[in-house]
Amino acid sequence: GKETRLRVVLRVRPLTCTETRRGDQRVVHSLGDGTVHVNAARHDATFGFSAVFDAGSSQEAVFEGSGMRQLVELAIDGFSCTVFAFGQTGSGKTYTLMGPLPQTETQPAAPGLLGLMQRSFACLLEQSRSRSSDLALSASYLEIYNEQVRDLLRPGPPCALPLRWNKTRGFYVENQLSVDFESLEAIADLLLQGSQRRRTSAHALNRHSSRSHALLTIHVCSRAVSMHPALGTGRGGLGREHHPHPMLVPQPSACPSKQGTLCFVDLAGSERVKETGSSGELSVEANNINRSLLALGHCISLLAKPRGKRTHIPYRDSKLTRLLARSLGGSGITLMVACVSPSSRCLSETLSTLHYASRARRVTTRP
Ligand code: ADP
Ligand code: MG
Repeated sequence: GKETRLRVVLRVRPLTCTETRRGDQRVVHSLGDGTVHVNAARHDATFGFSAVFDAGSSQEAVFEGSGMRQLVELAIDGFSCTVFAFGQTGSGKTYTLMGPLPQTETQPAAPGLLGLMQRSFACLLEQSRSRSSDLALSASYLEIYNEQVRDLLRPGPPCALPLRWNKTRGFYVENQLSVDFESLEAIADLLLQGSQRRRTSAHALNRHSSRSHALLTIHVCSRAVSMHPALGTGRGGLGREHHPHPMLVPQPSACPSKQGTLCFVDLAGSERVKETGSSGELSVEANNINRSLLALGHCISLLAKPRGKRTHIPYRDSKLTRLLARSLGGSGITLMVACVSPSSRCLSETLSTLHYASRARRVTTRP
């Protein structure tokens, strides 16, 4: 129940071939020590984060240096953990979470390029084998598209699911599918299937731009494998010694278990309609995306105030903020990965991401 700050790290992707070819200047420079310097035209500003990964950082360096491994371990220990990637369209969010898109169906991405998600799955399965506990793993995968929640694991055409609230569960999605898995191949397959159902459109900034917010949640239920017969039957106070949190003390009839979650959120990119050449349906999408990101930004800036001075947090303003309520303001542990392009052409979006991310560093939760 101790107050814990959100951990915010920054990733600056390399200039793309197109950006290099057109002679874009690099305006974001990592100074080491978790700081970046933005230097262009009238701007000269320095921002600090828990870690900064520059163009040369490998996917592995991001996994190890961002605290992602610890987040996986905390989920196994029964906490609600969330990592979310945000930034302008084309800034590298999906790349950071999932790695590059496979070139063909049969040729998956090189192992070194796998993203935070696949590395976390591997770590989770490794831990489940090495710890003396029996882990039951399942996954659900949702997208929020045009303010509708859709199940990405359910076969057939997308249908909207209701988002509800009650006192014990907080906000939750009714009837979402949760699929059990036991191997790396199985979860990688669920991720691939779901991602293919996700709504994407090609526009000027990114050929495979995600037009929805996607939330993949791994539910981790761990039952301690005990040498003591009394624990196996779930009787007596022995189980309690293993559960310092009263909330985690199991019902007398169940065996002692912890239920954690690990949620990966790939936010749709922030962008200005005029830059992406969006019109018609695309501009409706863009407006919905921008509206929910604005609601998120608004919640974050209110949450960033000291606890005593906080007013009502308007989680109900969008589906996204309802689903993230626990991670942002409640009992979750959250890692934010802000992604930016180093190009001079993206300067204003980059500065807005950096300000947004700096503000998020002041947000606290009570895990
Ligand atoms: P977003 O999800 O933020 O819209 P993407 O992850 O799709 O952006 O990245 C946009 C493009 O930049 C893709 O072609 C991707 O492969 C490339 N890219 C992003 N980050 C990196 C990186 N760290 N190293 C190399 N290429 C990257
Ligand atoms: Mg994306």
